[in-house]
Amino acid sequence: MLSNLHPETLAIRGAKEQTEFNEHNSALFLTSSFMFDSAEAGAALFAGETHGYTYSRTNNPTVAAFQNRVAQLEAGEAGLATATGMAAINASFLAFMKAGDHLVASRSLFGTTMGLLNNILPRSGIEVTFVSQTDTAEWAAACRDNTKMLFVETPSNPLNELADIAALANIAHEHNALLAVDNSFLSPALQQPLRLGADLSIQSATKAIDGQGRVMGGVVCGKADLVNEVFMHVRTTGEVLSPFNAWVLLGGLETLFVRMEKQCANALAVAQFLRTQPQVKTVHYTGLPDHPQRALIHQQQHGGGIVVAFEVNGGQEAAWQVIDSVTLFSKTGNLGDVKSTITHPWTTTHGRMSPEDKQIAGIGPGLIRLSIGLEHEADLKADLAQALSRL
Ligand SMILES: *Cc1c(COP(=O)(O)O)cnc(C)c1O
Repeated sequence: MLSNLHPETLAIRGAKEQTEFNEHNSALFLTSSFMFDSAEAGAALFAGETHGYTYSRTNNPTVAAFQNRVAQLEAGEAGLATATGMAAINASFLAFMKAGDHLVASRSLFGTTMGLLNNILPRSGIEVTFVSQTDTAEWAAACRDNTKMLFVETPSNPLNELADIAALANIAHEHNALLAVDNSFLSPALQQPLRLGADLSIQSATKAIDGQGRVMGGVVCGKADLVNEVFMHVRTTGEVLSPFNAWVLLGGLETLFVRMEKQCANALAVAQFLRTQPQVKTVHYTGLPDHPQRALIHQQQHGGGIVVAFEVNGGQEAAWQVIDSVTLFSKTGNLGDVKSTITHPWTTTHGRMSPEDKQIAGIGPGLIRLSIGLEHEADLKADLAQALSRL
């Protein structure tokens, strides 16, 4: 019935678990278990012969409403919610890979994902090869007989470099592997990796979907049989989303599209302003019309996103001075929030990388990352202008 509706409508009116009370907002089911009508009904539920709820580590109506609604926005057959974005990523790896398997991943990934790939996965005997974010040929060359998954995040954090999702999906499928895309940076409002051929689209719902920095959450979307593999893993390992968080995140989804539209407009205004400033060496933003990958941006994104990175002349000292001089931007690593944030990737989000690796990744000591929120763009520009004027 809802299939012909636009994503903006589905974000508000999509999957909902209605109770007998005709509640208008989604109900919050804070209960760990559910009762059976009879011993026989309990047996049927446990055997999977009837649909129903048993225990909130396995399924919960509030969590179901949230994951099903995200799946509608991602154009996936199914979705599975997890406790955090990292839980969604970890479960997606472990559901499909075992000792002796091989993963190809971009070198430009979220810092904690890098930690998972470098320090945790190898302990389970899963091998990882890192390749260029942008050079598709490197991905094809890295695939082997035991390659089970390709993993990418696009655009990259903080430099806004795109990976070509459709091209990577083709490479993965030629090798009978899956392509998993971390879509946290754009959210389903601005990019639907499954439509471009990806097998799994993974979100940190903590970011844009919540949008107000309140709760943690994650979601994996894709074909029903693949999401079921992740479900079977998570129901056993227990990395499930709390119903309360699902209920908060359902509210986040209802305003996701308007927030993203306005935040993208604000981000473009800030990026264009920064370009005119003499203290600024470079600005990295996918919404700028002369971004080197503009054809690909047009093909796979519906907007420039909300993260703007820029490099100031004068290295770390100058970058820290700007960060310490702004009064409106919050000094925090979170992104996607309605409040604009500012961070120094060299010493925070990417601080654990060696200086050489950071330079290879294009992250210099003078780089500053902004996540642009919903404040008036003139106030954001004025705050940056007064901070830059102190250099
Ligand atoms: C924040 C983030 C994650 C991790 O999500 P959590 O909800 O913090 O666990 C993963 N990938 C990207 C791109 C992120 O920004």
